[in-house]
Amino acid sequence: MNLLFTNQMFKLFSVFILFFTLLSPACAALPTVDITQPNHQIGHAISFYEDVNHHVEFSHITELPIDNFKPLKQDVSAHLFTNSTFYYKFDVTNPQTQSLSRLLVFETPWLDDIKIKVISPNSTIQQYTTGNIYPFSQRAVAHPYPNIEHLFEPGISTVYVQVKTRDPFIVPISIIDRETLFKDQVLHVSVTAFMYGIIIAMLLYHLILFVSIKLRYYAFYALYLAIFLMANVSYHGYTFQFLLGDYPTIQNWLQSTTIFLFSISGLLFAKSFLNLKKYLPSAQKSMNAFILIFIGTMLFSALFGYHIHIILAITMAILFSIYVFSIALLSLLNGNQSALFFLLGTTAGLIGTSITALTVMALVPYTRIGYQAIEIGMVVDSILLSFALVNRVKINEKDKQIAEFFAKTDALTNLPNRRAYNDICHQEQSLTNKIHHTQLSALMIDIDFFKLVNDTYGHETGDIVLQRIARLLQNSIKTSDYIFRLGGEEFLILLPDTQVNQTKEIAERIRSTVENMEILDKTQPIKITVSIGVSIHITPDKCIIEAVRTADSLLYRAKQSGRNQVMVATFNPLVSNGLSLQNADQALRHD
Ligand code: GH3
Ligand code: MG
Ligand code: MG
Repeated sequence: MNLLFTNQMFKLFSVFILFFTLLSPACAALPTVDITQPNHQIGHAISFYEDVNHHVEFSHITELPIDNFKPLKQDVSAHLFTNSTFYYKFDVTNPQTQSLSRLLVFETPWLDDIKIKVISPNSTIQQYTTGNIYPFSQRAVAHPYPNIEHLFEPGISTVYVQVKTRDPFIVPISIIDRETLFKDQVLHVSVTAFMYGIIIAMLLYHLILFVSIKLRYYAFYALYLAIFLMANVSYHGYTFQFLLGDYPTIQNWLQSTTIFLFSISGLLFAKSFLNLKKYLPSAQKSMNAFILIFIGTMLFSALFGYHIHIILAITMAILFSIYVFSIALLSLLNGNQSALFFLLGTTAGLIGTSITALTVMALVPYTRIGYQAIEIGMVVDSILLSFALVNRVKINEKDKQIAEFFAKTDALTNLPNRRAYNDICHQEQSLTNKIHHTQLSALMIDIDFFKLVNDTYGHETGDIVLQRIARLLQNSIKTSDYIFRLGGEEFLILLPDTQVNQTKEIAERIRSTVENMEILDKTQPIKITVSIGVSIHITPDKCIIEAVRTADSLLYRAKQSGRNQVMVATFNPLVSNGLSLQNADQALRHD
């Protein structure tokens, strides 16, 4: 029973469908285009015929049975990549008594070959040709969109259009006057100029960063943006209008080649930015392979002509976006923090590129926003990416600071090493960092007979002794003082702006503390002593190197005089002409 009912309903439904299908061509009396109004994307007034096998000739198009033409039912005719020739037919009415001049504008700059035939009310025929395989100068109005101009006589004219193109097949047809075209252009140009402005600013910004910081990914990003602009100005027809008007073939190849180069430069940038070696070593090979495949495809597919070249260029631009997005995501998951902004940026770029590619491939309905989504995506991309690049600089700076710290620190004692000492000397020479204002004391400290300690108790015990002494020295000075392990068992202390007596006290305290230090090897006490050379310069302009040199000579004398002692010399040019080493203070001997 139920089944029977369903069956009946189905039959009724089928009859309805059949009825409307049969009726629809008759019902769909297409509207005529009233040229006293501006008419944008007149697709709903158009019927079309797709000639797959190219057996129709445009000269005989009027003889084609009218039933062959089907209503387009969309604003814009869009058919992916196709080898077919498309014919469009629509009626145009001029309700006024005088003839009116109107432009037929095809709002896709790259359309190759467009032929137009207008049959006026009195049956005279006029033919036109436009498209970007013909010299730019042929156009009625110098405009990136192919266009022709016709003087429509009063009454109803019929227009036939033939379109062949090797590029994405989107044919938005508008019938407007020159003033409307101009108004549309002002809006279009200002939006485009605004977006180009942002992208050019970002490009220069990254170029300047590259010149000053010398990090390669800045250069790659600037290149990526530059190529994006090149691709964009070329497929929007600006290169044709302003540069290559007489060279349509170059213009066409430029479109596909710059799209390829866009993907390739994007891959190069992603490769250098995402630090794959560190965060995603497995992707390094696939990245290199991808770059080679892209370059190979760009060159090799050119042999098969422009049609194949542009199809691959667009398809691979989509692949490129998806691939880069995936490795950015993986590298973020592997701990690459700066991949986050990169990912957000790429997502914007990816969404934009995909929407435009889908629009251009007629897989989503044609809209102006969809057509220009790639530019919006790129603007957002470049802004987010500059955050990513700043973040990268921050991370690099931190890494550099850490590396610098380790390079200037002695691993055994954690004291600043000779490199740190050299830096201080260097800074002082360049007068950027004078560590003292009135006087400067240098203490050269060397462990006595340390070789013997090593020989007797072993190298490891020797290390422990070095660490103990380092800690002791560090605890004997203020945080504003400087200490270095210059090498082996030799330490340097610099005391800026410290009184003569205080300096002597510090040196002597160090000497005696070491002497009384309890260091045990197993149960056996180890006897350690140090010799110290102290030079005190009571002159603000004496440099560290000089102070250290005299301290070193004094240390040598302390060693020669029997070790475990402090040898001090004070240099005061205000008292005499500068004391020499011979006038060194008496050594404080403690045996
Ligand atoms: P002097 O009193 O004349 O200074 O005699 P010395 O034996 O201390 O001087 P010498 O320069 O002849 O020997 C220094 C020794 O310090 C030799 C070297 O094996 C030892 N040494 C240098 N660096 C280290 C280290 O990092 N660890 C250990 N355990 N020994 C070190
Ligand atoms: Mg020694
Ligand atoms: Mg020594």
